[in-house]
Amino acid sequence: MSTDPEQIYVTQPYLPPLDEFIPYLEKIWESKQLTNNGPFHQQLEQALGEYLGVEHIALFTNGTIALITALQSLRITGEVITTPYSFVATSHSLLWNGIKPVFVDIDRDTLNLDPARIEAAITPQTTAIMPVHCYGRPCDVEAIQAIADNYNLKVIYDAAHAFGVRDAGGSILRHGDLSVLSFHATKVFNTFEGGAIVCPDAKTKTRIDHLKNFGHVSEVAVVAPGINGKMSEFNAALGMLQLKYIDQALARRREIDAVYRKRLEGVAGIQCMPAERGDISNFAYFPILVEADYPISRDDLHQKLKDNGIHPRRYFYPLISDFSMYRGLPSAHPDNLPVAVEAAEKILCLPIYPNLDDRQIDTITRLIAAQSCI
Ligand SMILES: *Cc1c(COP(=O)(O)O)cnc(C)c1O
Repeated sequence: MSTDPEQIYVTQPYLPPLDEFIPYLEKIWESKQLTNNGPFHQQLEQALGEYLGVEHIALFTNGTIALITALQSLRITGEVITTPYSFVATSHSLLWNGIKPVFVDIDRDTLNLDPARIEAAITPQTTAIMPVHCYGRPCDVEAIQAIADNYNLKVIYDAAHAFGVRDAGGSILRHGDLSVLSFHATKVFNTFEGGAIVCPDAKTKTRIDHLKNFGHVSEVAVVAPGINGKMSEFNAALGMLQLKYIDQALARRREIDAVYRKRLEGVAGIQCMPAERGDISNFAYFPILVEADYPISRDDLHQKLKDNGIHPRRYFYPLISDFSMYRGLPSAHPDNLPVAVEAAEKILCLPIYPNLDDRQIDTITRLIAAQSCI
């Protein structure tokens, strides 16, 4: 057991100064509009659109309801091709719509859905592809779109990790038919709980806005079996305040990423993911691969760090395809997913969040390096 009581978790939610939130609360108390597209909700949709560089955003109560609604809005049915290497909400959103997930293996370099393997998994029942920009690293959006176009499939990106990520042409969120964000406490940008769908046009956003409000289009008309997916004014106000600090938070994440890389350079058996461009990435996670030539196993390193008060996470282990509600699917068989199986066995996500200081990074990297020297 650790003698140092300090515990370092994989992430720590980013919180703005509390006193700065009070005026926002006072406004809510004055207006008495607590939800249903109130002033902060409208402001946040506008502000996020500007910040992210996308035109149409529908805010949600969380990312999972947003995923479920995104599938509903496009009337996706049958089978959807997706990745086993993600948080379980990705596939759960399919099951909640009565859709059969079809798992396709990931690419070794990006750990995202491997476009080269998608075609072989398409059947007459396939209606869509649901890739994930895992760790905020962009999918091969061009290749995925080419396949979707060829087979007339929709593409819904689970972009829960990809807040603020861009490519040469602009926001990564502009790709596909829809992109879904999560603003959960653990994510790069948080509203405690929250999420959003990035829509290609105003008409799609209107349809999604109806769906997240029970299908109401007026006081007396309901046009679809919608759900309650609305973001409250409290969460939206928090989002407005968080936005003031997001650039600062991202800058610190970028520094931490660089420090980790420097300190872990040359540690035999530890491999970092390829470095990303600072101006277009969000450094949401810091995954390392514990390779066979590292002196102890990934799980032993995980335990060793935990014994010292450091709590990295094995994102994503187990694979989604290993959970009981998916295991029986033919596509879930480990033989179908060798790259994902290997990644799930090697990966460890190290703590990364704006308030992590260099001394803490030093403690973490020293412990990792020390195992190599025993
Ligand atoms: C966090 C996350 C979700 C779910 O978002 P919530 O806002 O927590 O519902 C979905 N997919 C991925 C990949 C995530 O990391």
